[in-house]
Amino acid sequence: LWVTFEGGDGVGKTTQARLLQEALEAEGRTVVRTREPGGSDVGRLVRDIVLHHRGDIAPRAEALLYAADRAHHVATVVRPAIGRGEVVIQDRYLDSSVAYQGAGRVLDAGEVRALSLWAAEGALPDVTVLLDLDPAAARRRLDADDKPFDRLEAEKEEFHARVRDAFLALAADEPARFLVLDASRPVTELAGAVRARVAAALDA
Ligand code: C5P
Ligand code: MG
Repeated sequence: LWVTFEGGDGVGKTTQARLLQEALEAEGRTVVRTREPGGSDVGRLVRDIVLHHRGDIAPRAEALLYAADRAHHVATVVRPAIGRGEVVIQDRYLDSSVAYQGAGRVLDAGEVRALSLWAAEGALPDVTVLLDLDPAAARRRLDADDKPFDRLEAEKEEFHARVRDAFLALAADEPARFLVLDASRPVTELAGAVRARVAAALDA
């Protein structure tokens, strides 16, 4: 089973991915928790490039780097784990590319999605949890946690509003894959909703 977490910066993806991992491991399942960008050896190099050159990288080059990270990650980490019957819990996947690289307004969301699907040989998760939150609230949360939000400051507020809208549109297009949750709800409540959905997928 393959579960991805999506949403803007500061919505709580990493926290929920960790809680799901803990819950499934407590049931005796083998879990691989991973992320994009940077979920593989090659991908960690790509992550350094895209995060350090944010803003000064040509949009198509950025999209190709995310796609390269994805291609190597799916081929060397995700597919092998699924092949071994393990649960893969992933922080960000191709929906992030469509939302972020597409929301820059330079690239067409359909083209970004097609590029990602080519990179991943069409692989799509069984469940995608979209944690939806107003970007201003996400920013306050990162601030309260004393986490740096220079990334949020580096980009305009309208950019994050477009990213949020793009995620919601993706979820509306694929209701069977997506579980959309209001990320302002308490962490344990959200974790319960995620576990219920994943339990149903494991039983299916
Ligand atoms: O902490 P995380 O791994 O989510 O941070 C990655 C950063 O890269 C985030 O700031 C996110 O906005 C950005 N990103 C992006 N396009 C993607 C994936 C992540 O701009 N496809
Ligand atoms: Mg995170």
